[in-house]
Amino acid sequence: MNKNNTPLKVSLIDYYEEFECIGSKCELNCCSSWKIIIDDNSIDKYKELDKTHGSSLMKNIIISDDTKNKNSNYIELNNNGYCPLLENDGLCSIVKNFGADTLSLTCNSFPRYGVYLKGIREYYLTMTLGCPEAARKSIMREKPLTMNSTSLEKNRHHDTPDYKIINSTENSAVLLEISEGILKLLQQREVPIKKRLATILLLCQEMDANDIKNNNELAKHFASKIKDILNEKQQKTPPLASSRASQFDIFTCFISITENLSISNNHTPFYAEVEKEIRKCFNGIGVKTFDSIDDSHITNYDSAYNKHIAPYLGSNPHIQENLFASQLIKPLYLFSNPENKTTTLKHFFHICTVYLLTVGLATGAAAFNDKITDDDMIKAIFLMHRFSEKNPQVENIFYQLAKDLGQSSVDQIYTTFS
Ligand code: SF4
Repeated sequence: MNKNNTPLKVSLIDYYEEFECIGSKCELNCCSSWKIIIDDNSIDKYKELDKTHGSSLMKNIIISDDTKNKNSNYIELNNNGYCPLLENDGLCSIVKNFGADTLSLTCNSFPRYGVYLKGIREYYLTMTLGCPEAARKSIMREKPLTMNSTSLEKNRHHDTPDYKIINSTENSAVLLEISEGILKLLQQREVPIKKRLATILLLCQEMDANDIKNNNELAKHFASKIKDILNEKQQKTPPLASSRASQFDIFTCFISITENLSISNNHTPFYAEVEKEIRKCFNGIGVKTFDSIDDSHITNYDSAYNKHIAPYLGSNPHIQENLFASQLIKPLYLFSNPENKTTTLKHFFHICTVYLLTVGLATGAAAFNDKITDDDMIKAIFLMHRFSEKNPQVENIFYQLAKDLGQSSVDQIYTTFS
């Protein structure tokens, strides 16, 4: 990396350094169901280990003919959809035999995730909730999520994760201020959580309509507006109407996801688990076939939500807050990302979609088991997050849902927070 790109600052999600993979104790380890890309440095290392230690690491790696694409070499999964280097005790044979330092960039990174803001020269390193242990550390805590700044000399974390480079613009500093302001709104705990979410939704809608990414003056206006909203403790946010039906609408989107999964015929361990949970969920509210959903299922869903989920979330408001904070804490959504031309509002809708599907899955599980536990909630969280990130096909389905949600009106999602 040349001098101009050398990061000036590294910000880490506050549990970043204490995080440890729980290996064989993990409910659904990450060594299955996706393409495990092996970087060139690791290929060189593995060739050397095979030569000096007589190991056979390279026999598991498919070397692509595409020499121009540095992400084209990968580990071939076994017939059960698992990494062949995963041993029966749930531990990785590379780590066992040669130590964690020998892991490839992909394996060493997950669940760490980085964003590098180029012009500002700052790294933001967080974790994906697709990992059960990261989900627990992120969600099941009462303390608000924070980013801690650390000096570059003290850590080398930016070397480890896969990170996205985001180009900054002349108004990057103001956009960062807005992003920090939105997080403060979300974490303003003297205001009820539903109202905080509604405030952010309305703000994102307004910012989208005003194209703040390309207009420094407008961006400054919103930065100052957020300060005012914080000072007045969000009192001007209008009261919410109450509706459970729209939450159920989102929940039924599982149908399109499930159907799409069948089309993709992707029955690896992870997808099998997701499908099992979705079916259990429908079973819980009495849905036998997807084309037979009627008002009685909405009633069943509603009563499971009211009996189990509403009191659970009501007595643990940090869960809702942390679910949104873990996504909004990454500032990338306000910047122009060449890979993903999403708007602030669409990004927020995407977070809402994942959130609503998570709640939908947890509600179905609660109806099925006639109770909700922290473990059930964590399961719904890591399944839906990993599911939404896992491959471009599923990610597109989620974006489509988010878009539909936007098109069908902001009011619809507005009521889902009530
Ligand atoms: S999902 Fe997380 S806890 Fe589980 S094996 Fe992977 S990194 Fe470890």
